[in-house]
Order: sequence, then structure tokens, then C-alpha cells
Amino acid sequence: MSEPIVVAIDGPSGSGKSTVARAIAKDLGWSYLDTGSMYRAMTWYLQDLGIPLNSVAEVVAAAPGAEIRPSTDPLIPGVHVGDTDVSDPIRGAEVTSAVSAVSAIPEIRAQLVELQRSIASQARNGIVLEGRDIGSVVMPKAQLKLFITADPQARAQRRAAEIDAEVSQIQESIFQRDQADSTRATSPLEIAPDAILIDTTDMQLAEVIDHVMQLIGDIDG
Ligand code: C5P
Repeated sequence: MSEPIVVAIDGPSGSGKSTVARAIAKDLGWSYLDTGSMYRAMTWYLQDLGIPLNSVAEVVAAAPGAEIRPSTDPLIPGVHVGDTDVSDPIRGAEVTSAVSAVSAIPEIRAQLVELQRSIASQARNGIVLEGRDIGSVVMPKAQLKLFITADPQARAQRRAAEIDAEVSQIQESIFQRDQADSTRATSPLEIAPDAILIDTTDMQLAEVIDHVMQLIGDIDG
């Protein structure tokens, strides 16, 4: 059996990368993996257990007990922790404000990266993985690496529209997460040297999807 095609999509929050990744996987009948949902699910698990997130030792001791099961079907995205569907609670403010601290812990990253690679290896035809370190760390041999971004104001506006919140509030939270994710010691958000940069600030979603489909067509043929 031939190896599945791997497309890695990285970028900051609100860049539109999740929507693009899911649409592409849907169009192609491929698998889709939202790795951010896995860091969020881990954060939910630790909070649910009442683990103090500022105690790295306690976090590291508890994390292996988390059975994180993300969906890989782009038609039904979501994530379970054990048997609990946490797809909604992981989008709430409590998880969102804590996830960058949890994702900066090397042991957490090692656990989730291993799981991400194992899920990718089970894909049939192809898989689109999206996150912050897919092209640089998780799937360095991906056939196509994209870095999708947009200016912070545009990202805040999109996020605010999605979750029906104030732009100014979202802007602050996006800024803080960008800062934390870009400056952490282990696997910071950065553009892989062989990634193609797509700035979606002035692009419609459909244009971005068309562009990415063309790039995938190029690797195929
Ligand atoms: O993509 P999303 O905004 O849901 O990701 C939530 C958080 O998970 C990010 O702010 C980042 O701290 C972390 N993350 C990560 N590496 C990934 C995906 C997400 O560190 N590959």
C-alpha cells in the first residue's frame, strides 16, 4: 500500500487554517487532524481533575492518564477524552486561557506528538494536519507544508464573528496566545524553511481553498 499524502498546515489562531484544512480534507475524502483540539483536550482533562497547572510536576504526572481521541473525519470534527465528548468545553474561556501554558511543557508535547504521528500513519489516502509545529516537528517529511496567516486585526475579527464576542477582547487573547506560542522554548510557532506562506488578510475563504487545492494538485501530478 502506498504511503498517504501528508499536508501540514501551521499558523496562528484565527488565520483560517482550521476551516481551510477541514474543507480540503472534505473535498479530497481525506482524514483531518486538528492538533490544537488535542492540546485543548489535555488542558480540559487536567482542569477537570483539579490539577494546578502551575505545578509542572503534577501536570506531567497526570498527563499520561489522558486518553485523548480526536475525530479524523472532517465531516464530524470533535474530540473525546475517554468517553466524554469535550468538543464544546474545550472552546470555552477557561481552557483557551490555559492551553498555551500546558502546550509549552515538553512532556505534554512529546505525548501528543507521538499520538499525532500514530494517527497520521493510519490514514488511508491522505491526511491534513493543522497546528503550530506540524511542518517543523510532527511531520517534517510532509509532501506539502503551508503556513497560513493573516494580520492580527483580521484574525481577531474572524474569531469574534465565530464565537460572537467583542473584537477588542479577542484581540487581547489572540495577542497573548501568539506571544506565548511563538516564544516558548519547545517547538515554538515558526515557519518551516520549506513551507509556503499564505497571507489570507485580503483573501476570501474560497480563494484560499482554491489556491491550496492547486498546490495539492501539483504534488499529486
Ligand atoms: O489551534 P488552536 O488555537 O485551537 O490551538 C490551541 C493552542 O494549542 C495553541 O494556542 C497552542 O498553545 C497549542 N498548540 C500547539 N501546537 C499545535 C497546536 C496547538 O502548541 N500543534
